[in-house]
Amino acid sequence: MDHDIAQPRDIPLNLYKNAAPLHVTVIENRRLTPEGSDNEFRHVVLRYPPGTYRYLEGQSAGIPPPGLNVRGRPNVPRLYSIASDRLGDDGTGTSLTLTVKRLVLMDENGEVRLGLASNYLCDARPGDELKMTGPAGKDFLLPDGPRTPMVMIATGTGIAPFRAFLQHWRQQPRAERGFAWLIFGVQHDEDLMYHQEWQQLQEEPDFRVDYAISREERTPDGRRMYVQDRMRAIGQPLWELLSAPETAVYVCGIKGMEIGIETTLNEQAQAVGVDWVRLREEKREARRWHVEVY
Ligand code: NAP
Repeated sequence: MDHDIAQPRDIPLNLYKNAAPLHVTVIENRRLTPEGSDNEFRHVVLRYPPGTYRYLEGQSAGIPPPGLNVRGRPNVPRLYSIASDRLGDDGTGTSLTLTVKRLVLMDENGEVRLGLASNYLCDARPGDELKMTGPAGKDFLLPDGPRTPMVMIATGTGIAPFRAFLQHWRQQPRAERGFAWLIFGVQHDEDLMYHQEWQQLQEEPDFRVDYAISREERTPDGRRMYVQDRMRAIGQPLWELLSAPETAVYVCGIKGMEIGIETTLNEQAQAVGVDWVRLREEKREARRWHVEVY
């Protein structure tokens, strides 16, 4: 069925490698967070020639930063989750979108260090040509069956694959898709990337979004509000959806979130006499549990 949310069996993989990357053109690069805010998140759209690249929602593209590494070899590509559906934001099948955070770190001597690939991408201008590899990833993909509910838990730029998922989901007939619930954690209100898109989706009766704004909200015991705390606060309705065997659960973002989410789900499972580890493993085997954190 053409409109089926089912995942096609042929997954495009590594069509381009670092030795022979695809040349793509930057067609848009805009800041998603206000000028002067702590975090600079950017929306970068790359155009490729028709018929040269294919990808599915949830896959990543590789961008090799220019220059050589310490061993004198070309820098290896950094992987970025693709934030647009398979046809791209413009629906032409010739572009993809990346959501990039400018990495600015302080080293032990108090010197500012700029992340190589993220700064290269953040500084790219429309018209610039970049090299691209991929697509990569064959597990973090849309569920392989219609009417499958999805729970998506994101922190920071981990929102990227869920924007792609939800673009695809939105185009499915309501009867063919499952309930979609997004839990999104960022530091500040202004970091809520694509906020308007989530607000618009709220008009759909089968979509819900909840936020955890870590540096502006507090948990009842006075800690920063993280996604796992929001999940605990929502409680039963989310647990009921998430724990249903058919529901596909996706976690994407910062590494520490995984253990936090596990703790919340363990508590919630125990409260209703369910063995969470067993349920999670059953879900994993059924390709209903997907985690991409780093
Ligand atoms: P960030 O701004 O550093 O953090 C996003 C939110 O996560 C903040 O509210 C932060 O809170 C919170 N957070 C920090 N520790 C947490 C924990 N233990 N549990 C739950 N939440 C926690 O995010 P970012 O810089 O965009 O980084 C996102 C991460 O996702 C990066 O490590 C990136 O590499 C990764 N990522 C992975 C993929 C993928 O695997 N495909 C794709 C995109 C991004 P506070 O800072 O206030 O403590």
